[in-house]
Amino acid sequence: MKKISILGSTGSIGTQTLDVAAMHPDSFEIDGLAAGSNTALLLEQVRRFRPRRVSVASKELADDIRPQLPAGVELFSGDEGLVQIAAGGDADYVVTAVMGSVGLRSTLAAIEAGRDIGLANKETLVTAGHLVTELARCKGVNLLPIDSEHSAIFQCLNGERAQDIASITLTASGGSFRDLTREQLRNVTVEDALRHPNWAMGAKITIDSATMVNKGLEVIEAHWLFGLPYEQIGVVLHPESIIHSFVEFRDSSIIAQLGNPDMRVPIQYALTYPQRWHSPAQRLSLAQAGQLTFREMDFARYPALRLAIECGKIGGTATTAFNAANEVAVARFLRRDIPFVRIEEILEEVLERHTAESHPSLEQIEDCDRAARTLAHSL
Ligand code: NDP
Ligand code: MG
Repeated sequence: MKKISILGSTGSIGTQTLDVAAMHPDSFEIDGLAAGSNTALLLEQVRRFRPRRVSVASKELADDIRPQLPAGVELFSGDEGLVQIAAGGDADYVVTAVMGSVGLRSTLAAIEAGRDIGLANKETLVTAGHLVTELARCKGVNLLPIDSEHSAIFQCLNGERAQDIASITLTASGGSFRDLTREQLRNVTVEDALRHPNWAMGAKITIDSATMVNKGLEVIEAHWLFGLPYEQIGVVLHPESIIHSFVEFRDSSIIAQLGNPDMRVPIQYALTYPQRWHSPAQRLSLAQAGQLTFREMDFARYPALRLAIECGKIGGTATTAFNAANEVAVARFLRRDIPFVRIEEILEEVLERHTAESHPSLEQIEDCDRAARTLAHSL
């Protein structure tokens, strides 16, 4: 029996993690759930999964739900609540599925408490990859990737020696606007952007897929998870999203991981590693798929991807500023405050004014995150 806590239980990854847990009720017990503001869904999850500890985004929300919680359930709120769910109680495994760098302190707290991490919250690694990976190494904690591309690479690398890896390549679907030219991007709406061709995900990551920022964040995530230099990390367009990513070895062999797009598969693998259990995911028939296609990544079409990789190469707080500016720009686009193409311009403008600090402390990272957010709001 594995005791799990979930940060972001009411989101796309959080609910699918609970789906996986519900399929194997004799193997998983839910210890803690942290949500943002969707209290109706959280209460439903509490009734169904009987966690001992829950948290919501604010004290006001906590006061609202307190009378409706079963006796004995501990209630927390705010950033401190996230930390309580991550590091308190007696879970042995924490799934980090909140959206954004708000997940940083709680992820560090979970690692400090010696808990293995199922890592969906890529912004944490982009914001402070060196702190998270160093602490995990120090504490002997496993960081198990949930992001489908990273789960794919992780599976392809199983049992291989680091020195035999020539390169890894992340596949990209191209997002909602893959068939539009840059000129056509000028008039797209929020509704258009939220219509992802292959994956149903949270709003922020769907917009990140359309700008290709998501792939940029994933390149940085891969750099930290697999300890590879940026020169050995490639990206290729693969509209079908069937090959989730692949590794090339020095003997020129390539190993890829394939499957229909269904996040429950990488989520379950992160929970059951090194075992593989039965999954209800639809089986892939290659004969039915017929053909898999690939295109060279066009960096002129997706300037934010180029910028993300540049920030990764600079390192230090450059990726922190990139991530923070992007979180604000995407939120502004979703509020209809700026047009779609302005997201990329805000990223460029924030990074132009940023002087990167190498090897920043947690405090320096949080200062940089705040400053980049303020600037991205003001532009
Ligand atoms: P969603 O927006 O669907 O969910 C985000 C979750 O975080 C919700 O439970 C939300 O609560 C919670 N949350 C937000 N802010 C706070 C806060 N201040 N305190 C506590 N909880 C908070 O996002 P996704 O599930 O799509 O993505 C989550 C992470 O996983 C992201 O980092 C994303 O990049 C990554 N990821 C997602 C994939 C996907 O398929 N969705 C695939 C690969 C990676 P509430 O809704 O109650 O407000
Ligand atoms: Mg991904």
